[in-house]
Amino acid sequence: MKKLHKFFIPIEIFLLFVIVCRYMEDRLMDKLTHVTAEYFKEDERTVPVSAEGKEMEQGEAKKVALTFDDGPNECYTEELLDGLAAKGVKATFFLIGKKVVESPEIVERIFQEGHLIGNHSYDHVNLNEMSKEAACEQIKKTNEEIKKVTGTLPEYLRPPFGSFKKNLDSDMNMIEVLWDIDPRDWSVKNTGKVVNRVVTNVQDGDIILLHDEYATSVAAAMEIIDILKSQGYEFVTVDELIFE
Ligand SMILES: [Zn+2]
Repeated sequence: MKKLHKFFIPIEIFLLFVIVCRYMEDRLMDKLTHVTAEYFKEDERTVPVSAEGKEMEQGEAKKVALTFDDGPNECYTEELLDGLAAKGVKATFFLIGKKVVESPEIVERIFQEGHLIGNHSYDHVNLNEMSKEAACEQIKKTNEEIKKVTGTLPEYLRPPFGSFKKNLDSDMNMIEVLWDIDPRDWSVKNTGKVVNRVVTNVQDGDIILLHDEYATSVAAAMEIIDILKSQGYEFVTVDELIFE
């Protein structure tokens, strides 16, 4: 009997340890839930204010812009255009000049369907590592190729890698557009992760960066649209976001 008792003591200590751990875990979770609730309560108290400093009307749509870099892509851009048309969403496409030359019919479709077209350099190069002349040439050649298809010179420029070259935008008389949310879709190539990274971080007025080069990114864009529409977001092009 004494032997048996000796055997049970470690088990009793272990069970006691487990019970204490569970209790501590419950207390910790209560605390975290409380902190999160307080955080959102704080957030609710913030009155939304528009650019003019007025309080926003109840129900005024929050705006967000989907932007797609590195196209046109022969495999995925048209699939994306089909999806955007079906959902009645306009987006912004920052195109690579040499790909415009390869697939002008896709560029024509982007333009005809009312999306905004911007410049993403001719060869997808780091403009900041080039001479001023070479960087300007990258932008100029791309603008000309886009104009050959659409009849319109692009006004918006997104430098590859977000690598800003000082004064290039003013020298080229263009408006530089970067982004607020980058889910790194080109790296993760996972629809669920891309969607999650966007919808958990997005705020009114944000510009979202995606690439119409991957099936996962096209699928993510469709899910992002559905989720954010259900949260009251309206999808606009970059010019509408900046100037309206
Ligand atoms: Zn790019």
